[in-house]
Amino acid sequence: MKYYVLFGPPGAGKGTFAKLLVENHGYYHISTGDMLRKEIAAGSELGLKAKDLIEKGNLVPDEVVCGMIRSEFAANGGVRGFLLDGFPRTVAQAEALDKMLSEMGDELTRVVSIYITDEEVRRRIKGRALVENRADDADDEIISTRIRNYHEKTEPVINYYKAQGKYFEVIADGTIPENYAKVEALVD
Ligand code: ADP
Repeated sequence: MKYYVLFGPPGAGKGTFAKLLVENHGYYHISTGDMLRKEIAAGSELGLKAKDLIEKGNLVPDEVVCGMIRSEFAANGGVRGFLLDGFPRTVAQAEALDKMLSEMGDELTRVVSIYITDEEVRRRIKGRALVENRADDADDEIISTRIRNYHEKTEPVINYYKAQGKYFEVIADGTIPENYAKVEALVD
């Protein structure tokens, strides 16, 4: 089984590239952000817990997202491979993922990281705010909190995977098709 992580700061295009990879390669897409937004919309207990954290630009607890990933793996055994989008976002999540995969007798295939600058993060999120209606995209201070959380909590994940030789980075400074071609070249 193939397991890819699509990694990158908020607004890097993880969701956009994941959709294209699903269409063109038949992988199963798991977006923890989309799943959490669905829980919030449904008003579930999990959604109620996550809402405030997400809307302020903070991460939800590791146990919550790890539980979501575990049940997605369990429920989708027959697929060609998984594309993880927005997970792992902390070193603890990356360790938990390795443990889950090794318990299934498997391992992560590779991490495809999409690099954009902080300035570009702000520009893209502002653009997205005009088309999607996400509370965490609408406010400069919340965007700053998300960027800060990315540098403090998520960026250390890069070295975790570099140490395993599984980290591959794409500089996403072109058009969407150009950037997608670079991403696609790293999955099979
Ligand atoms: P983006 O990459 O644009 O920030 P996502 O949809 O991936 O958007 O995530 C939106 C929010 O959901 C995050 O800011 C965070 O609050 C929460 N979230 C998503 N995935 C995780 C995760 N793996 N760990 C903790 N929180 C997460």
